[in-house]
Amino acid sequence: MKTMNIATKSNKNAKEETKRSSLAFKWVSVVAATITVSFVIFSIAIYSLIRQQLIQNDQGNTEEIVTTFQRRLVEIPDKLEISNVVPQLSPNTNRILNNAPVSNKRENNVFNDDVLATLANRDTTIIIYNLDGEIIFSNGNNVTDRMPDIKDNHVRQLGHTSSGLHLNIYQKIYSDRTHKLTGYLIVDNSMTQTNKILHTIRLWMIGLSLLAIIIFIILSYLVVNIVVVKPIKKMSKISHEINEDPNSQERISNLNRNDELGELANSFNQMLDRMQAYIQQQKQFVGDVSHELRTPVAVIQGHMNLLQRWGKDDPEVLNESINSSLQEANRMKHLIQEMLDLTRAEQIDIQFPNEVTDVNEVLQRTVNNMKMIHPDFRISYDDDLKPHSFIKMYRNHLEQVLIILMDNAIKYSQDRKEVLVDASSDQNSIIITVQDFGEGIALEEQKKIFNRFYRVDKARTREKGGNGLGLSIAQKLVESYHGKISVTSQLGSGSKFKIEFPILKEKQKSS
Ligand code: ADP
Repeated sequence: MKTMNIATKSNKNAKEETKRSSLAFKWVSVVAATITVSFVIFSIAIYSLIRQQLIQNDQGNTEEIVTTFQRRLVEIPDKLEISNVVPQLSPNTNRILNNAPVSNKRENNVFNDDVLATLANRDTTIIIYNLDGEIIFSNGNNVTDRMPDIKDNHVRQLGHTSSGLHLNIYQKIYSDRTHKLTGYLIVDNSMTQTNKILHTIRLWMIGLSLLAIIIFIILSYLVVNIVVVKPIKKMSKISHEINEDPNSQERISNLNRNDELGELANSFNQMLDRMQAYIQQQKQFVGDVSHELRTPVAVIQGHMNLLQRWGKDDPEVLNESINSSLQEANRMKHLIQEMLDLTRAEQIDIQFPNEVTDVNEVLQRTVNNMKMIHPDFRISYDDDLKPHSFIKMYRNHLEQVLIILMDNAIKYSQDRKEVLVDASSDQNSIIITVQDFGEGIALEEQKKIFNRFYRVDKARTREKGGNGLGLSIAQKLVESYHGKISVTSQLGSGSKFKIEFPILKEKQKSS
């Protein structure tokens, strides 16, 4: 069973491995295909161009040969025969054969004769047929016995043989004097040179293309592996590790790159941080909630037990137990309400997107209410705001934040029963502060007090009815409206809470 498990696992790993390497494989395949297609298209284009040029050259040369021979043959007035063709093609040779004097003039030199020079060229076969289609002259290479059936006066044929391209020009010969057909001329060019060049080009192109494709494939494989696959493999390894152990502190090490993958690695790390913090928060929340509820439930349970045993008959125990139970039930109700507020505060963007509040008005009202509830306190409101200073916030939420802060200021005040509320504004923001002169908060506690259920002194705060949720709710609300909340405090001297919101410009108010 165990072996089977191991086998399946390694199978799975092997599969994953192939899956992982498939990115490089795909990339290399695409590069190879693209380069091959590009090279083939490029090679075909270049090859066709060169081939075209070489053929044109050959055609020009062959046409020239035809013209040279034709010029000689048209001078013969009768049908072409060996006896009139040979002397006509080589007048100097004829003169030598007839013992005529040969001058030293260059044009009279046998070896300077164009026709003879052409005849010596092994690539070109010249065949002259008489009117009956019989060969009367040829320089002997590719001789076809019978004259092909040609209709037009001049025909050019480019063909293919096993040795490559082949060019034939057929020319009917008409006498210049009688204008009658006297015979036929065929110039057959085997294009040996052109075929050789084209063959060499083909070999080079195939060789170079193969070499280039191999080099590109190797290079692109290396590049894609180093630049893309390696960092992705790193990320994949980390996410597997996190999958195995969600609390793992493994992160993608700094990739030192300023591109999309570097950005991805960063946001991947940030996502892991946030995700783990969120999981931790949730765990903490569930733990804290059950812990917070355990005490009131235990108190109520204790009193119920007491009542069950003796309380029914003892009016004093009955009275005290009922009172304590009610108090704890109230605390639970309060706690549940605060937990609901906290959850709601996390979804503000969706519920109150367009609410606008006049800060001064809400502050006046809240301060007046607090004064009424706590007549023993001197609560003063210093209003430096311009009239009608607006922020983008649902008014009940601003009120809720102010109540939390003022309530704390009162709760944690000692001898000096005084709370100062102040509101001011600058170009961009509205700043509200709530200051007390109570017990203050130690520096190391100041960050923690915004955490859920955090209380500096648990026992004492519980006496005062605090659940440690007020500031979390206030922070969530403020931040949901793009504001900031902070505290400055000194142990024994008091605390000053500051909230800051972006001010609403005239234009935005009306819209
Ligand atoms: P609670 O409902 O317990 O007051 P809060 O979240 O409002 O919960 O506050 C968290 C803790 O921060 C409190 O338990 C208290 O210890 C501390 N705290 C808050 N406000 C003040 C203040 N104005 N002065 C001194 N301590 C404060």
